[in-house]
Amino acid sequence: QAKAAGRRTFTRYDDAMDVSVRQRATISGALRKVIDRGELHLAYQPRLALQPSRITGVEALLRWTSEEHGEIPPSEFIPLAEESGQILEIGEWVLREACLTLHRWRQHGLANLNIAVNMSVLQLLRGNFPEVVQRILADTGVPASALELELTESVLMANAAQTAGKLQAFREIGVSLAIDDFGTGYSSLAYLKRLPITTIKIDKEFIGDLSRDPDDAAITSTVITMAHSLGLNVVAEGVETQAQLQFLRAQGCDEIQGFWLSRPLDAHACLAFIRQWGPARAGATATTP
Ligand code: C2E
Ligand code: MG
Ligand code: MG
Ligand code: MG
Repeated sequence: QAKAAGRRTFTRYDDAMDVSVRQRATISGALRKVIDRGELHLAYQPRLALQPSRITGVEALLRWTSEEHGEIPPSEFIPLAEESGQILEIGEWVLREACLTLHRWRQHGLANLNIAVNMSVLQLLRGNFPEVVQRILADTGVPASALELELTESVLMANAAQTAGKLQAFREIGVSLAIDDFGTGYSSLAYLKRLPITTIKIDKEFIGDLSRDPDDAAITSTVITMAHSLGLNVVAEGVETQAQLQFLRAQGCDEIQGFWLSRPLDAHACLAFIRQWGPARAGATATTP
């Protein structure tokens, strides 16, 4: 009896799954040729330091416009690319493209601009990734100090045992390391202290609710204080309003990113944005941090 019920339940579940499995298979299939077809491109979102106010760099965000499926958000295709292992090739393309763009901008008057690139867990765990990064930096002429690799807190926590050693190899090259989406996982203070990271990015979930939710305001100011006591740089992501900006500035947050400053832009528009920001505001030009 129980077995029969179990089987029925399983069958129903299986039918439902079948649809999404088929959809996923279609997207995975389309994903296979994206690099060759030139369907990938990067969007760039500027990052603003608050004291003094100046653009310090950009985050590269992957975009896929599929011929068959149109614009597919990274939250949908990156997990699939991770399952299939394609993220390794795609991630390498992202890094090279981001560095090529940064090099071009640095040669055109934005000599101190930095770039942040998101890194998948597969890239982190892959043995030779530090060498891949080093080769791409050398090929593109970008100094290691201008590159920051972002890893989500959940990835770092899930692989805690292997993580610290892997990260150290990147620090030895000279790249910066950020914990992305901070606050959504369960990092302990002691654990954070052991990781050779340079930056904490507070998740936009907390920033979005700052003025409505006193808990989010408390968490945010605590994270800023804690990060500073560990000598880390703090970036708030998802800043959309002047009120959020004012709160973060008052709490001593180092940098912000979000729609208040700018949406992610294509390379051309982003360069124009950074250029017009510089002369437009005192102290806002790209200078050495
Ligand atoms: P993330 O690294 O935390 O990037 C921030 C996300 O927040 C981006 O979404 C960005 O467009 C969005 N965002 C920026 N400002 C605001 C704001 O003010 N309000 C709101 N509501 N959203 C804002 P996007 O581009 O859809 O990327 C989603 C996630 O996909 C990224 O989160 C990152 O985890 C992943 N991702 C993007 N590009 C890459 C990549 O090249 N490689 C890997 N492995 N992951 C990537
Ligand atoms: Mg990120
Ligand atoms: Mg994030
Ligand atoms: Mg909340």
